[in-house]
Amino acid sequence: MTATRSTKAPRNWVTTLMFVLTTAGALVAVPWYGLAHGYSAHLWVWFAVLLAANGLAITCGYHRLFAHSTYEAHPLLRAVYLLFGAMALQNSALKWSADHRVHHRYIDDPERDPYCAKRGFWYSHIGWMLRNYPSGESDFSTVRDLQRDPLVAWQHRHYLALALAMNVGLPMLLGWAAGDVVGMLLLAGVLRLVISHHVTFFINSLAHIWGSQPYTDGNTARDNFVLAFLTYGEGYHNFHHMFAHDYRNGVRPWQWDPSKWFIRAMQGLGLARNLKQVPWFKIQRAMLDAQFQRAQERLAAHPGRAQLEHLRKRIAEEYEAFCRAVSTWSDLREQLAQAKRAVAERWEHSTIQQRLRELEYELRFQHRRMRLLQAQLD
Ligand SMILES: [Zn+2]
Ligand SMILES: [Zn+2]
Repeated sequence: MTATRSTKAPRNWVTTLMFVLTTAGALVAVPWYGLAHGYSAHLWVWFAVLLAANGLAITCGYHRLFAHSTYEAHPLLRAVYLLFGAMALQNSALKWSADHRVHHRYIDDPERDPYCAKRGFWYSHIGWMLRNYPSGESDFSTVRDLQRDPLVAWQHRHYLALALAMNVGLPMLLGWAAGDVVGMLLLAGVLRLVISHHVTFFINSLAHIWGSQPYTDGNTARDNFVLAFLTYGEGYHNFHHMFAHDYRNGVRPWQWDPSKWFIRAMQGLGLARNLKQVPWFKIQRAMLDAQFQRAQERLAAHPGRAQLEHLRKRIAEEYEAFCRAVSTWSDLREQLAQAKRAVAERWEHSTIQQRLRELEYELRFQHRRMRLLQAQLD
């Protein structure tokens, strides 16, 4: 099926040549120049700065701001994202977001998900861009909100000029200042671009193949610490596909997510606001849901085993307690909303909020108990 698709879709020569030339440059010209002339520390610093600027413009800007609206940003910050996003050479924010919103909506659907992981590692990593597949045609009806944004529309209109200025003009200027134009073009231009490309592409390929699924196994997305480390925090992809409107991907305080820290820093500077967060209870609920589902599957695999009877009973009890907690939580949230509408006394709010916090603790302990029960099922 995949082979038929690959042979039928016409080759996208512009993109293919761009990848071939930049990859050849990174593999041949960069080491050759390094051996012949060497690269100064000055060049390496700019390489690292621009690599990080591209990465964060894609994760904090293209992804979490433009594609998912997980927070609001000052026009100055939006402009910086759009400039360095154009430098990352992954299309305009408008096209990128249109494709990405379709990826979330039709995840794993081989006919509609533009970088469907079920079509294999190569396809989801880079293959989807090398040919004009029908699933790769951008649906701009999904980004009406962004089309109304003057800065996003401006970047889309002048994308090619901006991409050239940022990829060739800026490294030439920096190289001139450093006294090594060719060296800067190779390091901060070519090598930076190739690494930046593949780091982002890993989120579409490896983050759908390798890792754990603590929140849902209803799609291919995975949580993976190694990938989070390489991708500025985007490796917590199972969480992201479950709660795409949260500005965080690594939701735990200790999870490596420089993008969430950057967004918070921008909030501290007054350049970002209204950071959206899923209530902790809902996150716990999703994890417990996934645990119960897995436990049920394992129990169903051994229907007649008497040793498992006590576990079956314990898990059924836990599930009942879980359902009770979920329904109490919904009732309390409703009560809280009503109390707020009625401008009730503050003590009334805090009593309800106290109860909600207790329910969160209950779920946290339940999650630990379920882990122990599950270990017995393995
Ligand atoms: Zn994904
Ligand atoms: Zn996303």
